[in-house]
Amino acid sequence: MTTSLNLAATHVGTEALGPGVRSVVWVQGCPFRCPGCIAPDWIPDRPARRAEPVALAAELLADPRVSGLTLSGGEPMQQAAGLAELVRHARLIRDVSVVCFTGHRLERLRSDPPTAGVADLLARVDVLIDGRYVASLDDGRGLRGSSNQRVHHLTGRLAACGYDFDARPRSAEIAVDGPETLLIGVPPPGLLDVFDTAVDTVLAAPLARPPGEVRGSGTSAYVPRKEDPS
Ligand code: SF4
Repeated sequence: MTTSLNLAATHVGTEALGPGVRSVVWVQGCPFRCPGCIAPDWIPDRPARRAEPVALAAELLADPRVSGLTLSGGEPMQQAAGLAELVRHARLIRDVSVVCFTGHRLERLRSDPPTAGVADLLARVDVLIDGRYVASLDDGRGLRGSSNQRVHHLTGRLAACGYDFDARPRSAEIAVDGPETLLIGVPPPGLLDVFDTAVDTVLAAPLARPPGEVRGSGTSAYVPRKEDPS
């Protein structure tokens, strides 16, 4: 039996969320309410894009440059069974590495998993970045959003690849897909405000493209434009 996923967004081919070229899955829904979360629209547990793991795996690996998956949200552990299935099918196509963000602590995931499938997912994850985002501890460094979050190499696969998950300079990419603009990466403090202002300025110009969504993503994110009714 397959477990369908409820997704806030996906992106194929980024260098802003882990080593190499990766595809990213942001799940919809998160039980936490971290002050300063940059993805407030992805917190509600509501229907979004439904996707089946087999088809999604093929979609995410359609670009032959993709060597890894990054799982974010939202809270990936709320959909652990479906994500474990996604990784299993993806690795039948290509032996991708897996980086996963979670607001839970690893110890809690192991002792008292919040959903079925957590152990299965953890067994397939190479790097887990755990803990809730704390805005006052956001030091603008590393792939984690704040310094309280920990990087766990659950396998040795990415431990010696030279990618400094804890302290590397941050980077972000902007992807434009029709009416949507997606900011991909863990942005340094202040970047989302600059990005939102820049998009609003462009949209206010005489030849502005049609109204659409503006979304930022790190551990997760959604930044609606001021005129967006959502
Ligand atoms: S920062 Fe992450 S864990 Fe915290 S509310 Fe936002 S999506 Fe959930």
